[in-house]
Amino acid sequence: MQQVGDDAFHGTGTDVGWLAVRDGRDLTLVDTGWPGDVSRLEEQLAAIGHHPRDVRAVLLTHAHVDHMGALRHLHEAYGVPVLMHPDEVPLARGDRREQAGPLDVLVRAWRPRVAAWSARIMRAGALQHPRVAHAEAWAGPTALDLPGGPVPVPCPGHTSGHTAYLFPGIGVVATGDALVTAHPVTGIDGPQRLPDFFSHAPEDARMSLSVLADLDADTVVPGHGPVWRGQLAEAVAQAQA
Ligand SMILES: [Zn+2]
Repeated sequence: MQQVGDDAFHGTGTDVGWLAVRDGRDLTLVDTGWPGDVSRLEEQLAAIGHHPRDVRAVLLTHAHVDHMGALRHLHEAYGVPVLMHPDEVPLARGDRREQAGPLDVLVRAWRPRVAAWSARIMRAGALQHPRVAHAEAWAGPTALDLPGGPVPVPCPGHTSGHTAYLFPGIGVVATGDALVTAHPVTGIDGPQRLPDFFSHAPEDARMSLSVLADLDADTVVPGHGPVWRGQLAEAVAQAQA
């Protein structure tokens, strides 16, 4: 994993990222990659001297399969809970869906690189719909009693309960899919919003960017793409351009 701040580490699976924040032996993990990324996640935690048992909770930015892949494994093997926005709980439990599948994307954005990405994510489990029966809502949006003192920042649009997580002491924010820095479908580098067809409510997703612009952080850990350094207002300005 790449160290991105004091006690903060960015890991990557199949075209998707996660964030681990440490306090002593304990970790908060934001998102978990695809179902096919479970062993990569465990290996990357081991590489920074941690065991999945050290994870006090997973915070989920949103209930899409590319971020939920290890939730059941972490819960069944180690008892790790997962917390999210109340509106996201029914999606995680599989009672409702707000997700474009790889075939939806292919018909809207066919390019050779998109086809290659689709093949990669199919192998990583893109056609699965994990049901996470243990999904729970956090008590926020005030700071949570977890390593790093994360503050949930609701930024709906991509999904109804999409949430970024700010770690105020270290100036790091995990933005999930509200603000990404690269995606095989767009082929653009730098802060950006995902194409509208990925989002449940694209107009809300546009408005949610201004929520992120006000955050006091200088390190963006997105759901997709590399870590970005700079003030959030600047990242948002680039995404709106
Ligand atoms: Zn995603």
